[in-house]
Amino acid sequence: MNQMDRTISILRGYDGPEVRIMEVCGTHTHEIFRQGIRGILSPAIHMISGPGCPVCVTGTGYIDEALWLAEEKGCTILTFGDLVRVPGSRESLQKARAKGAKIRTVYSPQDGEAYAAAHPEEECVFLSVGFETTTPSSCIAVKNAIRDRIRNFSLLTANKTMPMAYEAMKDSTDLFLYPGHVHAITGLSIPRMLADTHQVSGVCAGFTARELVTALAVAVTNFEKGGYFFVNCYPRVVREEGQPEAIRLVDSMMEPCDDLWRGIGRIEGSGMRLRPEYAEYDARSRYQIPPMQGRTNNGCRCGSVLQGRIEPGQCPLFGKVCTPEHPAGACMVSSEGACSAYYLYGSHQTLL
Ligand code: SF4
Repeated sequence: MNQMDRTISILRGYDGPEVRIMEVCGTHTHEIFRQGIRGILSPAIHMISGPGCPVCVTGTGYIDEALWLAEEKGCTILTFGDLVRVPGSRESLQKARAKGAKIRTVYSPQDGEAYAAAHPEEECVFLSVGFETTTPSSCIAVKNAIRDRIRNFSLLTANKTMPMAYEAMKDSTDLFLYPGHVHAITGLSIPRMLADTHQVSGVCAGFTARELVTALAVAVTNFEKGGYFFVNCYPRVVREEGQPEAIRLVDSMMEPCDDLWRGIGRIEGSGMRLRPEYAEYDARSRYQIPPMQGRTNNGCRCGSVLQGRIEPGQCPLFGKVCTPEHPAGACMVSSEGACSAYYLYGSHQTLL
């Protein structure tokens, strides 16, 4: 029996206390499905999908703000592809584009800045969503715009940070499968502190089948022993101190703010916005966007899915009126969304 077989046998044969493991990151959700890992888990191990897909947790009010900029101010909206299909209160950016709004897909904030440089006659707003992994890129784009004297570029920020979300989610799970790419940036002080002082256990995991099954086996083995723990199971990428340069860059240009998470509500200190000295590059200041609360589809249960309270299949719209082709909620739109993962892989879980 090789090492991988031994690790799989730990997961298959686990007969300790029932354990709920929240995969915080949408990429983990998809990889666990895609690699067939759910199919090898003992019935005592319950995977819960968490709030770690940036598109899924972006509120309808944010889409409404982008629509307002496009329609009322004539701005060109620069966005990642997933976001154009997310329903706002009234419609999606995709539908607005079909009616003539200027919505352009870009692949990075730097692409957005380059588009603005090439189109000085357009007021360009980049939709800056994402977690700690992508926020430094948005800061670099603003820095470059300042350096290149590009005055027609700004960010509509919905950047979020994970620590306060861990706090908000901790009662929904017994332990977290922490996202390796986030902690590659932020380091390990937060999960260590959560284990040491907040009684929140977890393991930090990579994304290959081997890395995921190893992290899950470490998690359930430690859980069975009792007590609170944190183990870094992704040491080839995640270092104790993270990436100090990226942390310093973000701290110098952005500050924490309260933020709305779709279906979860306002989480204090969980957002990032540009500091006042960068107001010219902050679309909310620059265009004086009025406050927008946003409304979601009444039947959509994204909030419960994102908090691990229900599985996507328990949403009455799942697979009927809500499919990846016609999403009713954000969790079905994004390639990282839990509903999308269940829809795509839910029926074949034993690929590994
Ligand atoms: S299946 Fe669709 S409507 Fe239901 S929770 Fe998921 S995204 Fe929302």
